[in-house]
Amino acid sequence: MVIRELLAYIRPHRRILILGGLLGLVGSAAGLAMPLLAKYVVDAFGQNRSMAGPLLGLTVAVLVGAVVSALGTYLMERTGEGIVLGARRRLVDRMFRLKVADVDRLKPGDLLSRVTGDTTLLRAVLTNGIVNSIGSVFMLAGAIVMMATMDGVLLLVTLLVVVVIGGLTGLVMPRIQRAQKQAQEAVGEMGAVLDRALQAYRTVKASGAEEREIAVVAGAAERARDRGLQVAGWTSLAGVATWMAVQIAFLCVLAVGGSRVASGALEVSSLIAFLLYLFYLVAPIGQIVEGLVQLQQGLAAMKRIKEIEDLPAEPVGATVPVTVGAGDPVGVRFEDVVFRYGDDRPTVHDGVSFEVPPGGLTALVGPSGAGKSTVFALLERFYEHQDGRITVDGRDIRDWPLAELRATLGYVEQDAPVLAGTLRENLLFAAQDATEEELRRAIVRTRLDDLVSRLPEGLDTAVGHRGVLLSGGERQRVAIARALLRKPRLLLLDEATSQLDAVNELRLREVIAEVAAETTVLVIAHRLSTVTNADRIVVMEAGGVRAVGTHAELVGEDDLYRELAATQFLVS
Ligand code: ATP
Repeated sequence: MVIRELLAYIRPHRRILILGGLLGLVGSAAGLAMPLLAKYVVDAFGQNRSMAGPLLGLTVAVLVGAVVSALGTYLMERTGEGIVLGARRRLVDRMFRLKVADVDRLKPGDLLSRVTGDTTLLRAVLTNGIVNSIGSVFMLAGAIVMMATMDGVLLLVTLLVVVVIGGLTGLVMPRIQRAQKQAQEAVGEMGAVLDRALQAYRTVKASGAEEREIAVVAGAAERARDRGLQVAGWTSLAGVATWMAVQIAFLCVLAVGGSRVASGALEVSSLIAFLLYLFYLVAPIGQIVEGLVQLQQGLAAMKRIKEIEDLPAEPVGATVPVTVGAGDPVGVRFEDVVFRYGDDRPTVHDGVSFEVPPGGLTALVGPSGAGKSTVFALLERFYEHQDGRITVDGRDIRDWPLAELRATLGYVEQDAPVLAGTLRENLLFAAQDATEEELRRAIVRTRLDDLVSRLPEGLDTAVGHRGVLLSGGERQRVAIARALLRKPRLLLLDEATSQLDAVNELRLREVIAEVAAETTVLVIAHRLSTVTNADRIVVMEAGGVRAVGTHAELVGEDDLYRELAATQFLVS
């Protein structure tokens, strides 16, 4: 049940929470004693006795109540922070272990809002909500006992009114929860659309789409407001009902109590104390209602957090750190591989078979959408193929521990992502333990030494969000250097389709040739230089392998290759 899951977040903090709760109770008890002490003061006044004793008692109760309550509040807030931290850790931990296929469906902006926004909502419910409610129940019970000792009839009148209105308030609670979840969803959606626009900031500007994107984000913000207003509406309805309950009870007690005083059945001081207790009910009842409201909000947030936590993680060990390091080049075999991105998706690989021996340069070519990038995604086990067999170094990739498999491969994505941070951080991203010497060698090898010497702060220059301060060719070579520092036994290189200038292309060709001399390189080729230098070329078409051979062989034998070479690689 959801409540039980909510309690799982509290469990690690239960000691401090109980301590804070106890302090709260002591504070409440001190508050509870006050009307009684006030009655003693009034009685002492009426009977001409010394008021020093009762007054001293009243003062002590006030001071103790204040100090203890403050301490209790601090402990509660502290616990709240701890609970939020715990929830964030768990959520982030799961996020980085999700399967790529699941992440494809999620929106980054929405994920962000779950980590930042929804977890924050847990704090209120778990500390103030639950603890204040427990304290309030205690105060409520205490006040009712005290009232019972004063006058049973008046108590009955009070309870009747409170119970009727309390029942009505209870009906509102599920609506608060539903509206709150929708409000959080709207905030998540706002994050998602904002993220989408910021990711393509230049495209938005170049397309003159600013106004439209502003409207989309503002629309999501308005939906969040509307849902928030719904929550506010139901919440204030619950608050007003509480207030009315006490007011009506007050009037009834005044009427019934007045007549009982007149008939001599009740002392005036008792009626005064009773009415004071009645007003003492306002705060705890209010807190219980508020606690219930916060519980609804917390449950709504919980559901959104759970939606992510309940997604399956990659097989265990996917993210355990393994030492990366050189080894002999490995070969790759695809045997009748069948793959679809989803059950409702078209088949992308329909019996793909080819073999890459260890070492050397193998190029994958074929029309756009033939399934070349998918070959890499399957090798990295971002997705699981449905049928057939893929082996790396003669071993089925399903039998490889995931972390070890990924440590064996170096992967350069097509758009060669560079992360914000310094150039050094980017280069060492996949191999934190690389030495200065290894770093230097990788830089020279990828012809980045010019760039590094040109940059104002060398390797420690910040490259900007997604590496915007670098050129396309530089980004690509940074990505290659990063993959090389991992000392892969198989390098997967998705060549960018964008044209590099002649100098950059020459450099890239040299880099690839050098790397291919030491390890197996599998490259999705879009350049003539890459294919002519390749030891073998695998021609893919419509989810299958059409031909394998060298450039010279394929130009002679394969019509599709000849056409590709003529159009894509610019040979006549
Ligand atoms: P290109 O040269 O244009 O990059 P490609 O040969 O590398 O093409 P793939 O990227 O492997 O082709 O894509 C093959 C098919 O799979 C395409 O039709 C594409 O729409 C689909 N596809 C690719 N990635 C995904 C994904 N993450 N989810 C669903 N479908 C995908």
